[in-house]
Amino acid sequence: MTTEADTTALTYRLPQQRKLVTELPGPRSKEFAARRGRAVAAGVGSSVPVYAVDADGGVIVDADGNSLIDLGSGIAVTSVGASEPRVAAAVTEQVGHFTHTCFMVTPYESYVAVAEALNELTPGDHDKRSVLFNSGAEAVENAIKVARLVTGRQAVVAFDNAYHGRTNLTMALTAKNMPYKARFGPFAPEVYRMPMSYPYRDEPGLTGEQAAARVISEMEVQIGADQVAAIIIEPIQGEGGFIVPAPGFLAALSDWAKANGTVFIADEVQTGFARTGAWFACDHEAVVPDIITMAKGIAGGLPLSAITGRADLLDAVHPGGLGGTYGGNPVACAAALAAIETMKVYDLPGRAAHIGELATGRLREAAQRLPSIGDVRGRGAMIAVELVRPGTTTPDPALAKAVAARALAQGVVLLTCGTYGNVVRLLPPLVIGDDTLGDGLDVFIAAIEAGVDA
Ligand SMILES: *Cc1c(COP(=O)(O)O)cnc(C)c1O
Repeated sequence: MTTEADTTALTYRLPQQRKLVTELPGPRSKEFAARRGRAVAAGVGSSVPVYAVDADGGVIVDADGNSLIDLGSGIAVTSVGASEPRVAAAVTEQVGHFTHTCFMVTPYESYVAVAEALNELTPGDHDKRSVLFNSGAEAVENAIKVARLVTGRQAVVAFDNAYHGRTNLTMALTAKNMPYKARFGPFAPEVYRMPMSYPYRDEPGLTGEQAAARVISEMEVQIGADQVAAIIIEPIQGEGGFIVPAPGFLAALSDWAKANGTVFIADEVQTGFARTGAWFACDHEAVVPDIITMAKGIAGGLPLSAITGRADLLDAVHPGGLGGTYGGNPVACAAALAAIETMKVYDLPGRAAHIGELATGRLREAAQRLPSIGDVRGRGAMIAVELVRPGTTTPDPALAKAVAARALAQGVVLLTCGTYGNVVRLLPPLVIGDDTLGDGLDVFIAAIEAGVDA
């Protein structure tokens, strides 16, 4: 795989620079925030208090004219950029013809073309079928529906630190109580949580196979090998802290699923579409899931999600059993086809691998000097730093919060995550230039160095 980035081919509409003309948030953003407080429910949070008016490549411009470096991509969504010309042209063309007919009423070709592209790009060269939806949670819900129908079983296995969404079933699958689940129950039944492979926090030397054996024994004891409809897992956990399981963990679980008639579902909503340096994170370990869920990076920012899986599983569902009014909206499909083309034109999987090398190199170097960096991990352009109290593995969520706040004050958008809230993650647009990324990394590292109360 090439890791030489061909950024010369990339062109940008906006200057790819950090430039602050006001304090953050500036007066316009403050005005919007005041209106928001009176109009938008308090339960919706925002990581960053500045209001966007434009975005391109690796920058977001706010309502006060500040240009921020974007190391979050709106949570791994705008991998091709937030205003990619191919996506913009495809969307404009489509809305000039029809915005909606409903694929379940009057179908159209672009839905079929997206399904063909997904069947081709996802891991494995077996016969596949796809269904399109709107959100990641909806894709996960439908993957579970299919698994239960085809197996005639109910139990679903999810993992510690898992994040699968905010609908009722996906809240049950998601591990973290605050803020995702607290007081929103009761949750869907027949969800069983198993220990994840978490190399930084597991006993030293625990292999992927051993971590999987721990899960397998618990599944067999607590649920029964012939009762598990599905195992659902993020091949690299996203919201839970960018946790990369030990090598062999995923394959051992997938093998067990195959041997026991269980549907193995890879939730690649965050890891999919070039993000980790391959088209899908499962590709790194040659794991071929029975069903894969996708969303975030799929359509250049338009809302679209999908499940792709073995034809014999997906075609087992009765006609009319899967769907939704907006699923596979034609504007979103046009955007997805343009986004996928963009990923191929610029070799964004290769570009993600390059970003990963650049960022990991800089952060590992910083970790040698800064004892608050407990771990640097991830794959491709999905890299995180786990922050701890120096000399321990005790999570330091206050430092993570301070780092994100300090970086923002300097004009860099960084997101935090992790079960303990102590992980700062990098999810830059894959089209970000090396200089822009390098400047963002400088600010990030300086913010860690400054500590909690600088
Ligand atoms: C974001 C995410 C979801 C939920 O997607 P929504 O579009 O927010 O519903 C599900 N799974 C994973 C792994 C995610 O990162």
